[in-house]
Amino acid sequence: MAQPDGWRPPSGLPEIAFAGRSNVGKSSLLNRLVRRRGLARVSRTPGRTQEINFFRVNDAFVLVDLPGYGYARVAKERRESWRPLIEGYLSSSPALRGVVQLLDARHDPTPDDRAMLEFLATIGTPTMVVVTKIDKVAPKTQTARVEALRRDLGLDTAQVIAFSATNGAGRDELAAAVAGLVGQLPGRREAGMKNSRDEEPPG
Ligand code: GDP
Repeated sequence: MAQPDGWRPPSGLPEIAFAGRSNVGKSSLLNRLVRRRGLARVSRTPGRTQEINFFRVNDAFVLVDLPGYGYARVAKERRESWRPLIEGYLSSSPALRGVVQLLDARHDPTPDDRAMLEFLATIGTPTMVVVTKIDKVAPKTQTARVEALRRDLGLDTAQVIAFSATNGAGRDELAAAVAGLVGQLPGRREAGMKNSRDEEPPG
């Protein structure tokens, strides 16, 4: 799918979408997840792929690879050009069961990351957050790093998975979470993952 309201494969099977900043490690994660080396192309030119790719997995669900957004080195208007395509897909896909949002363990969430999570909360899509490249954080501080990100974003412990495409950490946990999202009935948010919108108001 290359433009908002453009052609997309007919929907039928449950869809799980993967989102994140360019270079966050999404292609590497997807290849690890499905145990295929070349499913998603590991990018050499961050910020280039501007289409949504759909992969049918085991005739059970469709894995939706959203374009990486927010590459810092492109002009602001191009940097924000992801929003109509990604948000258009997310808000007009009845088979969408959940979104896996990726964050790089070494960086704080960017304004684009926060905008994305905010948008997902607004449309009420069950959301998991995967903290990528966890192998780049010293083992002793990994737990604290993930916890800091979780609290910053107001997420549930069960919503956050630490992941490494390099050593496979978190792969099985992610596969189980995806299976959980796939099995969810549409419109049954309370049976699935909590969304940040459900957070109790402060005080
Ligand atoms: P994408 O742009 O989000 O699809 O990111 P890629 O999968 O292309 O990865 C971007 C860069 O990060 C590449 O150089 C990868 O080798 C590297 N990378 C991806 N995942 C990991 C990881 O888990 N650990 C480490 N150390 N590097 C990673």
